[in-house]
Amino acid sequence: MRVRNLGILAHVDAGKTTLTERILYATGATHKRGEVHDGTTVTDFDPQERDRGITISAAAVTFEWDGDWINLIDTPGHVDFSDEVERSLRVLDGAVVVFDGVAGVEPQSESVWRAADRYGVPRIAFVNKLDRAGADLDAVLTSIRDRLGVTPLAVQLPIGREDGFEGVIDLVAMRELTWADGVLRNRPARSAEALTARKALEEAVAERHEGALRELGNVSDGTLRLALQELTHGGGIVVVLCGSAYRNKGIEPLLDAAVDYLSRPGPGGDAGGDLAALVFKVQASRLGRLTYVRIYDGTVRKGDVVWDARGGRTERIARILRIQADRHTAVEQAEAGDIVALTGVKAATAGTTLCTRERPVLLEEPRTAEPLVSVA
Ligand code: GDP
Repeated sequence: MRVRNLGILAHVDAGKTTLTERILYATGATHKRGEVHDGTTVTDFDPQERDRGITISAAAVTFEWDGDWINLIDTPGHVDFSDEVERSLRVLDGAVVVFDGVAGVEPQSESVWRAADRYGVPRIAFVNKLDRAGADLDAVLTSIRDRLGVTPLAVQLPIGREDGFEGVIDLVAMRELTWADGVLRNRPARSAEALTARKALEEAVAERHEGALRELGNVSDGTLRLALQELTHGGGIVVVLCGSAYRNKGIEPLLDAAVDYLSRPGPGGDAGGDLAALVFKVQASRLGRLTYVRIYDGTVRKGDVVWDARGGRTERIARILRIQADRHTAVEQAEAGDIVALTGVKAATAGTTLCTRERPVLLEEPRTAEPLVSVA
């Protein structure tokens, strides 16, 4: 099974917590629907956080979708925690950026977007809260274009507006359905909006990928998905999906899109090489001190003694855990490309690298001016 490390980035209040809950519910990771207002949300480990409803501590939650493991990294949206946001961005293979369907691009969405640019994180967008009074997908698309400087490419359109919002039309699937009889171009679109979006899709794809896609109509469904994946990874265009986390609309298509369009593996790494694992989060939990690592190279095994490159001391890995919504699973080992939580690591802090003593490596530049090794 492949592993994908995904994050959800958003301005505070855009609906990241609600969306995460719906995703975990949809993937069967949790059996009870968590609600933000009753304080049972599973990604919020910290009781303080439940009270405040602000995601202040990142955690990785693992679930299975379409035959792959997805590690969902809960990146904080609060602007005061930008160092933590940046560290969690670094470990991602891809991200879903959530926008409020009424507010569109907000200052914090802009700052996480720029940070994701710096780390080259491929993104798709999810316009949430389309059930709210004043929600307007077109206006959000315009604000994405104007404020983020990328071309939004809607692959879905809402059915119904505001309180009458009922769900989404998948334009990719629609094309697939109609293309079978070869009448896409002649067939009347379901609405003027749908026609506009489809034209935009055709133009965007044709403009950027002339060689691969001379005419949208002549390509197979697989090629179209690949083209959208290329667009997503090429920058300049962002695939936009929409829905309402609150009403549980658009969640499964979003997961499918994340798998389809963000599916390129991240920085590869060699499972047989020397260990290099970035500690990106340390969290107290009822399981003890959890040290979250992204493994860039090598393999970590239960019982391994590793070297904390910044702290300059050894650590012993007691257990390797995958944290799921309502349980955790201990595994014997984890390889390059994966994100897991370690127990038994006593002193290593976020930003350090766990490696071998023989071949120490630091994946993250120290931010302070303090020299790593003082020369006497
Ligand atoms: P976060 O700060 O981004 O994690 O946002 P939350 O998930 O905590 O959501 C903020 C508020 O918006 C909560 O009151 C949610 O119930 C509400 N909310 C989230 N998604 C939707 C949605 O799709 N529609 C509506 N109307 N409200 C939503």
